[in-house]
Amino acid sequence: MSDVADQEKLALQAIRAFLATKTCYDVLPVSFKLVMLDSTLSLKGALLTLLQNGVVSAPIWDSVQCQFTGLLTANDFVNALRFYENQPKLLDELNTLKLEDLSRVEEEIGATKIENYNVSPHLSLNEAYKYLIKARTHRVALVDEDPTSKRKIVVSVLTQYRLLRFVALNCKETQMMKTAIGDLGLGTYSNIVTTTMDTSLTEVVRQLSNIGVSALPVVDDQYRLLNMYEQFDVLGLVKANGHGDLRMTVGEALMRRPEDFPGVHTCRLTDTLSDIMEIVRRTRLLRLFVVDEEGKLKGIITLSDILRYICTV
Ligand code: AMP
Repeated sequence: MSDVADQEKLALQAIRAFLATKTCYDVLPVSFKLVMLDSTLSLKGALLTLLQNGVVSAPIWDSVQCQFTGLLTANDFVNALRFYENQPKLLDELNTLKLEDLSRVEEEIGATKIENYNVSPHLSLNEAYKYLIKARTHRVALVDEDPTSKRKIVVSVLTQYRLLRFVALNCKETQMMKTAIGDLGLGTYSNIVTTTMDTSLTEVVRQLSNIGVSALPVVDDQYRLLNMYEQFDVLGLVKANGHGDLRMTVGEALMRRPEDFPGVHTCRLTDTLSDIMEIVRRTRLLRLFVVDEEGKLKGIITLSDILRYICTV
C-alpha cells in the first residue's frame, strides 16, 4: 500500500474513533434556534415560516398527542406540487392543505412519506452517521425524554452537514486524506439525471420527486455544467402564486434566485477529500459537481457519498 493510501486509512480510523467518543449533543452549538411547526398549520404557512427563518427543515409537533410527528422539508412541497399537478380540480386545496394531511397526499403519489426519523441526542456520533446512511436521509430529529415527566422533547435536528462540519473542524486528520477522489471512486459517475435551462419546472419537479435526489445539474448541449436546480429552489414558488409558476423554465426560475444564493461548487477528479473538507470548514456545502477541464459534467459527490465513505470503507 502506498504512503498516501496508508495515511488515508489512518485518518479514517482516527475520525471513527473520535466520533465514537462524542454524542449528538456535542455537535450542537452552545446557543441555537429551533423552529417547530404545529401539525395543524397549513403547508403553505409552514413553508413560509421556513423561508422567513432561513431554515431548510423543521420538526412538526402534534400538541394534542404531545409528540413529534415528522420533519418538514422542501421535498414534501415538491411531492405536494406533483400530487396537485395530477389533480388540477383540487388545486385550491394546495393553499389550505394541513401538515397533518401531508402523509396522505404523499402516499397517494407513491412518494416517500414525510420523514419522521428520530434518535436520542445521547447516541454516539458513530451510531448517528450509520443511522443517517442506513435510513438514506439527510437529517434526523433529536428527541430526548424529560427524566421526571417522561415527556418527549425535540432538542434539535442533526443534519449530514452539521456532522461533517464537526468532523472538518475537529479532526485534523482530514488533512491527511490526499487520495484523488477519482481513485477513491467517491460519488456518482453514471446515469446522472440532468436538466437544461429550457426545461419547465413541471418536468423538474416530477424528476426531483420521482428520482428522490435533492438537486439536478443544469447542463448545455455540450454537457457543460451551467448551474443546478435544487429542491430548496422550489420553495421560492411558495412566495409567489405557487403552482401556476411551474410553467416557468429552469432558466427563468434561476433568475429569481435570492442574491445570497451561495453558488455551485465544482471539483476535479484529482481533488482530494482533504480539499473538500477544507470547503466544508469554510462554507455550507451540500454537494460538488465533478467537471473536466472543459467544464463538462463528470459526476456528483454529495454529503451522503462522503459520509458513506467515512462510515463503511
Ligand atoms: P443525495 O440524496 O443528494 O445525497 O444523493 C444520493 C445519491 O444519489 C448519492 O450517491 C449521489 O451521488 C446521487 N445523486 C445525487 N444527485 C444525483 C443526480 N442528479 N443524478 C444521479 N445521481 C445523483
